[in-house]
Amino acid sequence: MTTTLQVSKEKLKKPPLQIQTLGNRVLRQPSKNVSSINEEIRLLAQQMLQTMYSADGIGLAAPQVGVNKRLIVVDLEPDKAEYPPLVLINPAVKKVSNEISLDQEGCLSVPNVYADVRRPTKITVTYRDLNGKPMSLEASGLLARCILHEIDHLDGVMFVDLVENQLDLTPKLVSKGFSMKDVQSRI
Ligand SMILES: [Zn+2]
Repeated sequence: MTTTLQVSKEKLKKPPLQIQTLGNRVLRQPSKNVSSINEEIRLLAQQMLQTMYSADGIGLAAPQVGVNKRLIVVDLEPDKAEYPPLVLINPAVKKVSNEISLDQEGCLSVPNVYADVRRPTKITVTYRDLNGKPMSLEASGLLARCILHEIDHLDGVMFVDLVENQLDLTPKLVSKGFSMKDVQSRI
């Protein structure tokens, strides 16, 4: 049997899950592999998508809703009903390009803060889909960037940790009520 998620891309007044923000420990804990792709996981994926669409996001990782499991959802076309979202279970980056691009990122867990991050422009990622089927995906550009950003969440890494220009980042974070002490710089 194959399952496809029926999720309407609408903004709900009361999204099913709450998004955790920078400073919450759950975002810093490494997530565990999903061992069994069951109804619980399918429901989590569905509710993560509903929560992501409601917050105007294009990606969301399970730790952002307080669940330390290796599951991410991505949708670069949140306004197009016919375009199916991606659900990646136990995603693993297998290849990255030498070519790097610097581009602006944001995060639903650091709302209204945008800063430049360097990422490989092309990646190959393996994962399981909601039916447990092993999949491989080559992605480039924004899709690659988004998938890498979400996978970082599974390892407790936030995009603000990867920002080189701390002089630019600090006032942006502080003005939105966040603290630089919650940034774990990796640069
Ligand atoms: Zn994020």
